Amino acid sequence: MVFRILRPDSASVWNNEELRTRFPRYRGIIDDKEFARYIIAKSIECDFDINDSIKNLENLLLEKSKAFNLLLNKSPENIENRQVYKKNYISLVENLANKYLENCCFCERRCQVNRAGGEKGFCLISKDSYVSSAFLHMGEEAPLIPSGTIFFQGCNFGCVFCQNYDISQKWKERRKIEDVAQKVDVKQLAALADRLVEKGAININYVGGDPIPNIHTIVGSLQYQTSNITQLWNSNFYLTEKSLSLMIDLIDFWLPDWKFGNNECGMKYSGIENYFDVIVRNHKRIHDEGSGEMIIRHLIMPNHIECCSKPILDFVAKELPKAVMNLMAQFHPEYKASQYPEINRKPNLEEIQKVRKYADELGILYEPVS
Ligand code: SF4
Repeated sequence: MVFRILRPDSASVWNNEELRTRFPRYRGIIDDKEFARYIIAKSIECDFDINDSIKNLENLLLEKSKAFNLLLNKSPENIENRQVYKKNYISLVENLANKYLENCCFCERRCQVNRAGGEKGFCLISKDSYVSSAFLHMGEEAPLIPSGTIFFQGCNFGCVFCQNYDISQKWKERRKIEDVAQKVDVKQLAALADRLVEKGAININYVGGDPIPNIHTIVGSLQYQTSNITQLWNSNFYLTEKSLSLMIDLIDFWLPDWKFGNNECGMKYSGIENYFDVIVRNHKRIHDEGSGEMIIRHLIMPNHIECCSKPILDFVAKELPKAVMNLMAQFHPEYKASQYPEINRKPNLEEIQKVRKYADELGILYEPVS
């Protein structure tokens, strides 16, 4: 058993009854009263041949996902003494992820390059994963800290205003990946996660850049992680349906970064096709089929209240009632934002208040985490 100490600012946020109601399992894992999903997944036996076709493996995943979700609803006492299988649900997911890597479709860019064979797509990440830093993050939302945050090198987006551009973009122009990040295999990543738990993390927070290009390494590491700890996916959520199917049962907590309220802004500022359609689809799925425990981050951008903030809030209010939002006011023009006059400033007070007022009118819960 791990005794976790919440910082006072993190502990007090749990006095909010609504938050406790929306994040019951996450809080249960912190208190060691519930099991993290990946631990439960290890007790589901999966008999497959690594050379099975993708179709057969996907069918098996569907079948095992149903078994997983039945088990999830049982009490912790019923789960505690279950046998851990060598070939389990995580092995199945990892095997399928490695097959997808041969024709990469992890994100909706669908580069279809053979990353397993050394090719690289837009994200410039081959089969190897690289971690630029890993530490206890105290700057995340109050219910999440101390967060055992693992930053992966590389990103599948190309946002012109990226606030993290050293990790996501800049290195592409001037340096080799080995100069800025450390290669990790599945066992090394698991050891990194376990060390963060020993230091006091209350979740393992996969971020970047973006973690999407590293799905195969992250799910593979779960086979070697040992702590009862929340697995948290902190991402732009531009996943394909197939890759979300790999993650959906294994992730306890979701931290999506929802930027734009339409496809056009996604294309203009991030070079992404069908942004809104994809993000809406994936949010609905993690809400309805996944844990549904989520904080949606929305960075309020200048001159983008009507076209972006409001449509996002409308969707959340209507379709994602369990979600909590972090309405973030810290946008500042970084990277190439100066080339776009309309976003070449911070959002002003009037814009920020307008978004918050609209969220209030829609009944969206944001204050405890914003
Ligand atoms: S993760 Fe996305 S951007 Fe990277 S190679 Fe795969 S499909 Fe392309």
